Amino acid sequence: MRLRNIPGSDEVIENSLFCYNTPTEMRGKWSGHFRNNAPIHIEIGMGKGRFITELAMKNPGINYIGIEKYSSVLIRALEKQEDLQLLNLCFIRMNADDLCKVFAPGEVGRIYLNFSDPWPKDRHYKRRLTSNTYLPLYKEILNPNGCLEFKTDNEGLFDFSLETAGQNPDWTILQYTRDLHNDPMGQGNIMTEYEEKFSSRGNPIYKMILVPSKG
Ligand code: SAH
Repeated sequence: MRLRNIPGSDEVIENSLFCYNTPTEMRGKWSGHFRNNAPIHIEIGMGKGRFITELAMKNPGINYIGIEKYSSVLIRALEKQEDLQLLNLCFIRMNADDLCKVFAPGEVGRIYLNFSDPWPKDRHYKRRLTSNTYLPLYKEILNPNGCLEFKTDNEGLFDFSLETAGQNPDWTILQYTRDLHNDPMGQGNIMTEYEEKFSSRGNPIYKMILVPSKG
């Protein structure tokens, strides 16, 4: 998701208390930001932040960090948070490539990937957020008892992700469905902006949960 450039969005983000501009300084110290030892859950590519904001409202005992690479989108999440002032929610404008510079090993309890860019061309497969470019980064920052939850409406990306994770010995596919909204896995599901848009067009929603392999 890339919106037209919004003049001044960089300055708003730089000056917000809810957004980290130098997140590498927080590596290993995110609990200090939240002033408690609650688990830290992150969403990578949160877009306008509806999903993570709703989670943060519902689960005050969990700390949430929304990650997004474009300020033109992140500013929409920030505007909501400036009104809500949730103590358990903050944002980082960054590229997922830098995850290991921002989080220490095991610092994250759960990773959400929602409607990640499909990069449909074969030659771009390494850019997909469920490719083997990124799975090792997630493995490093994730608590060994944590999990990764991935939703998409894109069948090609879903099949690629199942195959990639299935062949990677570091990951175990715990559960998956090809029709989340008509499956027990969808109980308590929180919709993202893209999910609402695509499911209202009749597209099924796919979801998988991955966990780090044991032993
Ligand atoms: N999760 C939201 C938005 C999905 S669109 C929803 O479901 O509604 C995918 C989002 O991921 C876009 O906003 C895009 O800017 C962001 N994104 C893509 N690649 C990224 C990367 N490498 N690092 C951080 N964000 C990324």
